[in-house]
Amino acid sequence: MRNLLFIPGPVAVPEQVLAAMARPMINHRGPEFARLLGSLEERLKPVFGTTSEVLLLGGSGTSGLEAAIACAFSPGDRVLACPIGMFGRRFSNIARTYGLEVDVLETPFGEAQDPSALAARLRSRDGENYRGILLTQNETSTGAQNDMQTLARAIGDHPALVLVDAVSGLAASEFLMDAWRFDIVVAASQKALAAPPGLAMVAVSERAWQRIERSRSPRFYLDLTRARRLAKTGETPWTPPVSIAFALHAALEAYVDAGPAKVWARHERYARAIHAAAHAMGLELFSQPGAHSNTVVAIRVPPGVDAASVTRRLREQYGVVLSGGQEELKGTIWRIGTMGDISEVDVVGALAALESVLRECGCQREIGTATGAAQTVFAEPPGPRTALAV
Ligand code: PLP
Repeated sequence: MRNLLFIPGPVAVPEQVLAAMARPMINHRGPEFARLLGSLEERLKPVFGTTSEVLLLGGSGTSGLEAAIACAFSPGDRVLACPIGMFGRRFSNIARTYGLEVDVLETPFGEAQDPSALAARLRSRDGENYRGILLTQNETSTGAQNDMQTLARAIGDHPALVLVDAVSGLAASEFLMDAWRFDIVVAASQKALAAPPGLAMVAVSERAWQRIERSRSPRFYLDLTRARRLAKTGETPWTPPVSIAFALHAALEAYVDAGPAKVWARHERYARAIHAAAHAMGLELFSQPGAHSNTVVAIRVPPGVDAASVTRRLREQYGVVLSGGQEELKGTIWRIGTMGDISEVDVVGALAALESVLRECGCQREIGTATGAAQTVFAEPPGPRTALAV
């Protein structure tokens, strides 16, 4: 049975990207790799919305987040963490691990960061001491997304470095790192760019480089200064995952060929179709209105339904692979990703399977309502919509 991967990363990878990984190995200290690295960086800059350097690290998204913390700060620095879910929490924990003083601006899970609460905290007496602000663009654990432009406005010209975890959102909507004055933005290969896991991408502003020069935190493998120095000669400090770099290059070509605006609209459309289907089945979204992510839809598990048995049946009977909730959300939500090489037909098929399994569980009476709702969304003429934000 063919698996339909609807988890929020790693995602289904298109054939031409998989094929790129079959290329023969090259010398990672030779001219061919130097050209590849240069070309990757040039293609990544517009995705981040920056003219600053974008470095590639061999590792998953977390390696990029750890590199950002380890390099930007020194032990004892005070930072404001703004988690809106488990991944934001992880970002704070990395900061604590490196000896930072972490103040947490709490947000109920399912909601986005309230910009006025952030602005008020930054203006408070503590506010002026923050050397860093940690944000999550898209919170994969709750299906909530921040409005980064509004948060950028709320931060204004506060001198703290702004670090953004954009792992599960970058390339799925417009991102303007320079215009929004973000300092370090981290993404990963296995999400909206639809390449396999293995590379973290870290964009670093000029202001951040100045701080990085002065930082006293220990680091070795994740030293961004060393990565910057080597990148200038077309190398990475350590042996890179060359095949993943080939794949990422093919994925970026596909992204540009498809047209970024069309890719963003596709994610939004898939999310809207899944919302409509959930609504038609009488299921509730976990994310709050105004905060819905376009890359991961979190649906509340109805009372009396065993979340894990639904995901197991979906997988075993239909080959449809969804995620459950993490940590305290385990058993209470399902998460459906919209990223990767999935078609409208795949979305409708996955929803049909979900509807059938829920019917078997006795919590869905009719067949065809969810798929019909999704098809209705897909029948609308394509074009940018803002429905997810309201
Ligand atoms: N941040 C966010 C928002 C994520 O979604 C993920 C992974 O799903 C991570 C960080 C961690 O990335 P990785 O698993 O690639 O280390």
